[in-house]
Amino acid sequence: MEKSLVIIKPDGVQRGLIGEIIGRLERRGLRLAAMKFMAVSSSLAAQHYAVHQGKPFYAGLLDYISSGPVVVMAWEGPKAIEAVRQTMGATNPTAAAPGTIRADLALDIGRNLIHASDGPETAAFELGLWFLPEDLVSWARDGERWVFE
Ligand code: UDP
Ligand code: MG
Repeated sequence: MEKSLVIIKPDGVQRGLIGEIIGRLERRGLRLAAMKFMAVSSSLAAQHYAVHQGKPFYAGLLDYISSGPVVVMAWEGPKAIEAVRQTMGATNPTAAAPGTIRADLALDIGRNLIHASDGPETAAFELGLWFLPEDLVSWARDGERWVFE
């Protein structure tokens, strides 16, 4: 089953949107596999966003992600990576489709509430960066056959 690494960024925590964001992923039918609430060190932030090093928004992005506690999660399901990206919406909230987390709850690209892995290689890297293998819980929900064919 595919897994995606999802982070509720500091603005989502500060704005009291943890439950709203988790609820949307949960209602979509995705299955939670791991979750923790934590502060983000500057070195972890730099590793997570290494791909953006050198871009104009890089310094602000590192400040943003380490500006307060975050909720880090692994969500799984069929095509989980694509499904979470779809529910999250485009990077710029004003370009995101209505009904997505970013369009419905955010305004600014630099305060877009949520991170999610963008592909299988990124997901594997990010899951390994934020979680130990034993943090990932292998389980099945009662009634799961009504969500996963
Ligand atoms: N970002 C920004 N300005 C930009 C582009 C990106 O502040 O012009 C921030 C934004 O928080 C975004 C993150 O950098 O979520 C990572 O950018 P990416 O292109 O990977 O977007 P995402 O995968 O989060 O949609
Ligand atoms: Mg990205």
